[in-house]
Amino acid sequence: MSEMAGMGYMSDRKLPQYDLDASFYDQVRAAKPRYELVDRFELPPLSGRGFKVKKGQTFRFVTVGGPQIGDVALWNAHDTREYFVATRTWVLEGFVIKVGTRLWSEVPWMRPMATCIEDTVTPEPPDSVYHHSDSRTHCTSELWEMRSGVAGLDSCHLNFLQAIEPFGLSEADIHGNFMVHQKTYVEPEKGRARVARGDSKPGDYISFYAETDLLVALSTCPMGDGIRDVATGEGEAYPIGVEVHETGIQPREFPKWTDWRPGWTGKWAPPQA
Ligand SMILES: [Zn+2]
Repeated sequence: MSEMAGMGYMSDRKLPQYDLDASFYDQVRAAKPRYELVDRFELPPLSGRGFKVKKGQTFRFVTVGGPQIGDVALWNAHDTREYFVATRTWVLEGFVIKVGTRLWSEVPWMRPMATCIEDTVTPEPPDSVYHHSDSRTHCTSELWEMRSGVAGLDSCHLNFLQAIEPFGLSEADIHGNFMVHQKTYVEPEKGRARVARGDSKPGDYISFYAETDLLVALSTCPMGDGIRDVATGEGEAYPIGVEVHETGIQPREFPKWTDWRPGWTGKWAPPQA
């Protein structure tokens, strides 16, 4: 039995310098009356749009009209080789996104790209096993064809293409993403996610604080309120409101990783300079 066995969740084991600095985000939330609005738009149903967010700004996904699933992907605005990675985020934070969850990139950066700072959505009933935001991946036209037999249906994959092509990115740049306003329950035995109609009411929102300059892509998923039939188009879909605010508070620098390569004696050898 390994030393790690019996130690509980591996994701809880971190040196203190890698823990969430809760007091910093209290300060960010306390500054809310002084935030300045820098961008605001509504993305129609079944669409995609990209937008830039500077570090120290917040970005918010607001329910407009009714519950609508949003798929969201992140890239470093200056180096798109760094992007949000759902699986790395699961290991460090768990599957669910809630206030205090950080959204991580992968090595060699492996750092928080954004941190969830507010979420007004309350799942029903109050003791619900459901939640509304998590890290996973998006729907594709191929997925819908697999389920319905109908080819060429709208999907978040196509919406992401619509979002990122104006920024010079292509299909190869699309990786995992996270979901907002999608009412989900994960069955403990199978680990399968069940989706229900969302409980987000007009004006509800989830907000993130940008830890670095970001390109953000948003898709208004064809699953709409969570139970819309993508193949027939029956059901409800709504826009999602986006707001970007300047907080005036710069993010704290995440600790740099040790460069272990010069002294490495294992089998793999670093490239010679
Ligand atoms: Zn989708």
